[in-house]
Amino acid sequence: MLDQTPGRPLLTELYPRIVKPRGALRVPPNLADYAAACRDFTWQAARARLDGLPGGQGLNIAHEAVDRHADGPRADRAALRWLGRTGARRVLTYRDLRAETNRFANALRHLGVSEGESVFVLANRIPELYIAVLGALKAKCVVSPLFSAFGPEPLATRLGIGAGCVLVTTEPLYRRKVAGIRAQLPTLQHVILVPDESAATDVPDTLDWHRLVDAQSADFVIPPTDPQDHALLHFTSGTTGRPKGALHVHEAAVTHHITGHYALDLHDDDIFWCTADPGWVTGTSYGIIAPLTNGVTSVVAEAEFDAPTWYGILQNERVSVWYTAPTAIRMMMKLGVDAVRGYDLAALRFMASVGEPLNPEAVVWGAQAFGMPFHDNWWQTETGGIMIANFAAMDVKPGSMGRPLPGIAAAVVRRNEDGSVTPIEQPMIEGELALRAGWPSMLRGYLHEEERYRKCFAGPWYLTGDLAMRDAEGYYWFVGRADDVIKSSGHLIGPFEVESALMEHPAVAEAGVIGKPDPMAGEIVKAFIELKPGFTPSEALRRELLGHARKRLGAAVAPKEIDFSETLPRTRSGKIMRRLLKARELGLPEGDLSTLEGDTR
Ligand code: ATP
Ligand code: MG
Repeated sequence: MLDQTPGRPLLTELYPRIVKPRGALRVPPNLADYAAACRDFTWQAARARLDGLPGGQGLNIAHEAVDRHADGPRADRAALRWLGRTGARRVLTYRDLRAETNRFANALRHLGVSEGESVFVLANRIPELYIAVLGALKAKCVVSPLFSAFGPEPLATRLGIGAGCVLVTTEPLYRRKVAGIRAQLPTLQHVILVPDESAATDVPDTLDWHRLVDAQSADFVIPPTDPQDHALLHFTSGTTGRPKGALHVHEAAVTHHITGHYALDLHDDDIFWCTADPGWVTGTSYGIIAPLTNGVTSVVAEAEFDAPTWYGILQNERVSVWYTAPTAIRMMMKLGVDAVRGYDLAALRFMASVGEPLNPEAVVWGAQAFGMPFHDNWWQTETGGIMIANFAAMDVKPGSMGRPLPGIAAAVVRRNEDGSVTPIEQPMIEGELALRAGWPSMLRGYLHEEERYRKCFAGPWYLTGDLAMRDAEGYYWFVGRADDVIKSSGHLIGPFEVESALMEHPAVAEAGVIGKPDPMAGEIVKAFIELKPGFTPSEALRRELLGHARKRLGAAVAPKEIDFSETLPRTRSGKIMRRLLKARELGLPEGDLSTLEGDTR
């Protein structure tokens, strides 16, 4: 059992709560009364917000995301507003998207690809990626989007695990990364290349997107789809080890839809921008499915992070709801509030963040820079959709992930010796975050890792592997991943609290904290720090930071060692890889690096 580390001010008490003006939000929130929404919620009612396939033929994600809108009053609304890296724009209305995805589904049929076979997508955020994902779902294939920055080895691993039958990619990516591993991929039957320009490609053993897809009919009837049919294969971020392939089903759309409605507060006329790449689950669940099933316009920006470019997109596209990640927020913070001034962001009304703990400083900075806080929410590849969130109408306690979605029963549990778990009823006690199994987007398995999947469950609970606390008002507070928690002189220390305290210091841009083995204490807390521009590492600064942390956290919890680092190792989805900091510190093997940012093996 984990005890709360005593002797320091609680994070919960350090930052004033951001009170939401009751009844005075610009747009009435979808979730106005949390208690009532939770009480009245049923998954059946959430399911009834979707249409289902015509004639009671089941539930298919692509029908809910595209066809039902293309058949109704939203047909000519922009579904995807694509902004190319070099200034190109392409708008696909729901009607256009239906035709394009139908063509792709027909192309798969034409190639003889069967239902249940897997279609991988490896591309930058280009329109064809979105068309291929949705078209393959129509054809009832299992879709797996990959980061375009993956090198040949991680690609071969993932295509191998998922028995990739079709790969949609671009000509340059194919030449650089796939051609050389093709011989290792016996299941891969078709490679479809999107050419750089509209000129056709002529690469041996591949098919040209335009020649293949453009020639197909724009009509396609989605076959009957069991809501439990496999739809998506997502690899986890690999933060704690080798990435796992989590399988999701068509029914997951019910969660995507309702969480887009409640947690992201999507309204009919919203312009929504999710900055995540579909190679990471957020970019699929919330970059494709949630906005489209909610019928809004989704901005797809191909460019990678750059603060002025992003502010320009928010302004020029009149983005109203923005979903991003802590690393990007911290990079914006580095440049200061002034860099935001001068942009007209009047359309923006809701901002959310996911992927890593969002330190309270970042929440508060959001309020200074944009006039509203970032709303942190929590979920994982395995949960398929948002499980815990700060809602538009709810007061924000900076540093808290918020409260469980209606329909989601969460608990902080303690593991017993016999493998069962017991929910901890008292507030503010650390334990493992668990969710009552059975929500629609819950993973249905880790591909080829049955035992590992089984171990995620204890009785009615799905165990997340994250440690958290719940306060008396039902807000959840992230402590750390179970693997990252530090045991020092009898205390259990969550890295998030230490990192948050360090990031309060004006010199600190990012911090990663690990436990370093120590003969006396078991482990000592060691911090790696990335400085803000204008600060340089020095002994004096190190001492100042050690002092700052000791004052904030107390001697038992504060780091004993601090190293400065130019950049911290991160996953491609922006998470600090503490396991790598630790392996490097201890001179141990670095393990699976396939998701390490900047690594192109
Ligand atoms: P792997 O499972 O391969 O180690 P990963 O857990 O990073 O990688 P994801 O499924 O992308 O892969 O990330 C989910 C995890 O990210 C969560 O379990 C949690 O540890 C962390 N996380 C996500 N959102 C938040 C948040 N709002 N606050 C704190 N942690 C978060
Ligand atoms: Mg994980």
